[in-house]
Amino acid sequence: MSRKKRSSKNLKIGTRITISAVVGILVPVIILIAFSSVFQSFMASYFGFATVTTNEYSAVNQLQWSQTITSISNELVSDSSEEAKVKKINEFVAPLEKLGSVIYIEKNGAALYATTSKSEVTELASSIVKTDTQRNTNYFGENGMVIVNHVNDGSDRYVVIIANENYTVNDVSKRFAPQNITHLLFSRTGILILLIASVFIIAIIIISFITSKTINKPLRELSYGANEIANGNLDYVIDYDSTNEIGVTVKSFNHMTDRLKQSLERQQTIEQSRKEMIAGVAHDLRTPLTSVKGYVEGLRDGIANTPEKQELYLKTIYTSTLNMEHLLDELLTVSRLELGNIELECKPVNINDFLDDCAGELKAELQQHDFDFNYTNNCDSDFTVMLDAERFHRVIRNIISNSLKYAKKDEKGRIELTAQTYQKSVIITLADNGIGIEGENLTKIFESFYRADPARTKTSEGSGIGLSVARQIVELHGGKIWATGKEGKGLTILISMPRKVEENE
Ligand code: ADP
Repeated sequence: MSRKKRSSKNLKIGTRITISAVVGILVPVIILIAFSSVFQSFMASYFGFATVTTNEYSAVNQLQWSQTITSISNELVSDSSEEAKVKKINEFVAPLEKLGSVIYIEKNGAALYATTSKSEVTELASSIVKTDTQRNTNYFGENGMVIVNHVNDGSDRYVVIIANENYTVNDVSKRFAPQNITHLLFSRTGILILLIASVFIIAIIIISFITSKTINKPLRELSYGANEIANGNLDYVIDYDSTNEIGVTVKSFNHMTDRLKQSLERQQTIEQSRKEMIAGVAHDLRTPLTSVKGYVEGLRDGIANTPEKQELYLKTIYTSTLNMEHLLDELLTVSRLELGNIELECKPVNINDFLDDCAGELKAELQQHDFDFNYTNNCDSDFTVMLDAERFHRVIRNIISNSLKYAKKDEKGRIELTAQTYQKSVIITLADNGIGIEGENLTKIFESFYRADPARTKTSEGSGIGLSVARQIVELHGGKIWATGKEGKGLTILISMPRKVEENE
């Protein structure tokens, strides 16, 4: 995997949020565990729970007793040697004895540690409360306190008996006095809670800051880029390379800008062509109009004074008006097509009949222009298409008139019409050996008003309408039109038309 792929920049936003949530919980927990394990040994003594410090009943005192009895029991069942156990127990019981407690610890029926004899301890315990040393007891009452605790580690049985007659239990109001549970617990627990909360809050703030920075930075770049584009700077490319969601959005955004730029450039080219076309059409209309005007004046002023001259003048006037009519016709068609105002009158037509007709007409016309013409038909005999034959003839005529217009001056013109049917369509090909067109412009020739450089085509004729009309008519039929060829090697126009769908299909 490449370094780029592994980069944290590519992390998905979902993953990023999950990580930040997990880290946001884990980090404070780890910090707190580390913190508490460092201070663990000090905790119990800091909170005063390590050992019994008073003979007065309170919630804290109960915690102290519970802590002390647990410590003694744990030591009794530990793996330490008996000597070490006794030493440790001495440490635990010393503060208890200082407060007047009497202790007797028995191992398998024999004394392990004793402040005094067993009988004295049990006698004292029984004087405080009725005590059965066979059963665990926890008594904290008016007369003192008694604890009997049995511990068993599988092989050895221990009994711990503790009695103290100096123990006092204050009245209820005092037990809950501030100096007891509330005060002691809350004054210190409050600090602990504050500490935990601060660790969580600080960790969450830091992690959120890092996470939001990694999401915000590219979003800011995106918004900056959007502003640049809105201000017309279509060359602006947002520089953020990542495979995450923002990276994908940035890529789409850059792609969109690119497409927008291309489409604007295209629009400008079309607009330019439209302006040139208006100039061209005005010129194309003016030329025949001037000649009509001239010849009409000639007739009016009697310059055409012989029937032959008059015949010639009228013929020229007629040809000029035909040219103007053709041009206006083309313009009308293209504007109606672009406005969607044309409805086809389609009928089922056998493609062979249609093509044979076309070929017949073309052969005659092309002979007049001294062009070679070849016709090859490989269509199925029963192949039918839905055609508005008149309009489709116009498509063929427009293509052929281009082949005549853009023929090479130094080579005999040649046009080949071929057709081949496939299962669902027929492909009609019209290939010439004219000047051809640059590869990159092959798709543009079907746009309205597109004309190749007149200097290159060496003809000022044409308005950039013919192939656009052809494309729109073909597309209205549900067909497709495209071009192939190389500059200087001729142009081939291909038309694919769908087969007529039979009712039972
Ligand atoms: P025009 O009226 O300019 O011929 P078209 O829409 O028919 O308009 O064609 C558009 C452009 O395509 C032409 O201006 C020309 O540059 C190019 N073109 C069309 N047919 C041919 C061809 N057979 N050979 C070379 N170039 C062609």
